[in-house]
Amino acid sequence: MKKDIFDFDYNELVNEFSKLGLEKYRVDQVLDWIFQKKVFNFDGMTNLSKENRTVLDERFSISIPSLLDMQVSNIDKTTKFLWRLEDGNTIESVLLFHPDRVTACISSQVGCPAKCVFCATGQSGFVRDLKAGEIVSQVVAMEAQRRVNIGNIVYMGMGEPLLNYEEVLKSIRILHNEKTKNMSMRRISVSTVGIPEKIIQLADDLPEVKLAISLHAPNNYKRDMIVPMNRKYSVEEIVYAAKEYQKRTKNRVTFEYILIREFNDSRDDAEKLADLLKGMGAYVNLIPVNPVDNVENLKLERPHYWAVDRFKEVLDKRNIENEIRKEKGTDIDAACGQLRRRNVK
Ligand code: SAH
Repeated sequence: MKKDIFDFDYNELVNEFSKLGLEKYRVDQVLDWIFQKKVFNFDGMTNLSKENRTVLDERFSISIPSLLDMQVSNIDKTTKFLWRLEDGNTIESVLLFHPDRVTACISSQVGCPAKCVFCATGQSGFVRDLKAGEIVSQVVAMEAQRRVNIGNIVYMGMGEPLLNYEEVLKSIRILHNEKTKNMSMRRISVSTVGIPEKIIQLADDLPEVKLAISLHAPNNYKRDMIVPMNRKYSVEEIVYAAKEYQKRTKNRVTFEYILIREFNDSRDDAEKLADLLKGMGAYVNLIPVNPVDNVENLKLERPHYWAVDRFKEVLDKRNIENEIRKEKGTDIDAACGQLRRRNVK
């Protein structure tokens, strides 16, 4: 069986190549073809001998996911991709265009076990973890498709990255390697529903990687209703872990807060959130909810614009840094997991 070349980190590849009698600089050449020149077959790697190409082709596959669907926003070029993996499962990735850089939002699992009620991915259930190579190849495939150079990566697509910790870690190390994508650790963010022990572990393993926590509610009563995982890890445990993470890394921690009309958007909710986060270097990302259908027992409506402003004012007054997330791709299936849901019934 061929092995996916994207699943190997640099040292592993050097080792694999040496077993085939190939020197280290051959690894560099192959990685340059794949990551820079976007050549995804050994036959096209013309600075390798015919024999070397054959040997490599017998041993490795270069598994770029195949494109099933793509939507491009007419407003801001936001591009959403639906990929098919080798085993037929599908995942999404997104490109977001900013004036000075392009951000890639990538998936870490097929489906998601967290099942947050507002999230389209959670509604479709959990299928399996992605391999490191399947995470890395999303970045390469998007660059090849759109001919862009990705400058930021956020693990904010489908899945809960900290529940697939080892493969996510490996994918970050691969993308960081100077012979592959050469992505600075500081330009990578991991977004989590909040798994306290993994948050601490991330601080020790990859202290430069940025952390975002999907908090979405200021207390356990409300968070239990929209984030089922909260019954396992409470708001207090998560905030404690975030503070510990910050002590160890000195990084600011982003808290994502989805605003749902008349559920968590009151002045009192904002005050409670400020109480919870005061004294730590928190940054709050306020996100008016993108309604997805089929939510049981909870009306998911976008907040009034004045409620968003009121929420922001309270945080400002309490000196909690925050920002209302500028929406992108509103004319395409913008919410997480929507494209996949439409295609895979
Ligand atoms: N499991 C990780 C990463 C995937 S979800 C986590 O929980 O952070 C990442 C983000 O997707 C959430 O924080 C939220 O900001 C966004 N999201 C999901 N569904 C959404 C919706 N219906 N409207 C707005 N944002 C949504």
